[in-house]
Amino acid sequence: MKKAAILGSTGSIGTQTLEIARTNKDIKITALAAGSNIALLEEQIREFRPKLAAVWDEEKAAQLKDRVRDLDVKVVSGMDGLLEVASEPESDILVTAIVGMIGILPTIEAIKAGKDIALANKETLVTAGHIIMPLAREKGVSILPVDSEHSAIFQSLQGGQEKSLHKILLTASGGPFRGRKREELTDIQVEDALKHPNWAMGRKITIDSSTMVNKGLEVIEAKWLFGVSVDQIQVVVQPQSIIHSMVEYEDGAVIAQLGTPDMKLPIQYALYYPERRYLPGDRLDFTTLSQITFEQPDMDTFYGLKLAYEAGRTGGSLPTVFNAANERAVALFLERRIRYLQISEIIQACMEAHRNIAVPTAEEILKTEQETYEFIKNRW
Ligand code: NDP
Repeated sequence: MKKAAILGSTGSIGTQTLEIARTNKDIKITALAAGSNIALLEEQIREFRPKLAAVWDEEKAAQLKDRVRDLDVKVVSGMDGLLEVASEPESDILVTAIVGMIGILPTIEAIKAGKDIALANKETLVTAGHIIMPLAREKGVSILPVDSEHSAIFQSLQGGQEKSLHKILLTASGGPFRGRKREELTDIQVEDALKHPNWAMGRKITIDSSTMVNKGLEVIEAKWLFGVSVDQIQVVVQPQSIIHSMVEYEDGAVIAQLGTPDMKLPIQYALYYPERRYLPGDRLDFTTLSQITFEQPDMDTFYGLKLAYEAGRTGGSLPTVFNAANERAVALFLERRIRYLQISEIIQACMEAHRNIAVPTAEEILKTEQETYEFIKNRW
């Protein structure tokens, strides 16, 4: 029986992780954490019976405690709560399905406690990959990618020799505005940007997909996961989202992983790796599949992707600025306080104003995040 804790159990990845546990019946849920959605968290606690639950919001945690007082579950809150969930003694694996850099410290805590990590929270690797990856190696724990592209790369590397990897071909759908030029994006509204052509995901990542900043974050994430330079990672637009990513080996052979767009596949693969399990759902049907097409990304229109390459190439604290600036800019856009195109303009302004720290500690990363938020607050 696998024992798993989940950070962000009420979100898109979190609920799909629980769906897998529900179907397979051989995963014991040891601990759950959410931000504030205590109604759903209560349902999850009643169904999966973890011994520990964390709610970020202290007041909500107190309310939840009251609602589940008939059950044998400890309710905790704040960062201490997340750290407790991350290092819950019984768990083998932590699913990091929380949004944002708040995932850094709990992930470090879990690795120190010897837990494998099923990593959805890409912000952790983007900003602290230089801390996470060596620590995982030192502690002998596995970082198993949940992001569909990284899972595809990971799957394509099975049986291959990682040292013969020549480059990574990271596929992208291109988002809802693929093919448009910058001047055609001036009037984009929140509702337009929330319509992803292929994937159903949380709001923040859906906006990031439309700007291609998500792809940029994935480039930096892949750099850390697979030990390559960002210049060995080529983004290939593949609008049908059938090829989830590919690797090219030294001899020119290209290996890809294909499938329908269903996040449960990479989540389940990470949970049971190296075992493959039956997964209910649609299959690719090559009798009806008419075409798979490829395009180059338009980095002039979607220049958040270009900025990500710059941040990934420079390293240090610059990826933190890239990520934090985007996070805040997306939040402002969702609140309708800035225009769509200002998202990448804000990221660029923050990166230009930043004095890079070459090898930041976790504390310096979080301080840089706050400084970036302050910079934005005073200007937009
Ligand atoms: P959602 O917004 O759907 O869910 C976020 C989860 O994190 C919720 O459970 C939320 O709780 C919880 N949360 C937020 N803040 C806190 C906090 N301070 N303390 C505790 N819990 C918190 O996000 P997604 O599931 O879409 O994404 C999660 C991560 O996975 C992101 O890093 C994303 O980039 C990555 N990812 C997502 C994919 C997808 O298909 N959705 C694909 C690949 C990667 P509450 O509900 O209470 O607010």
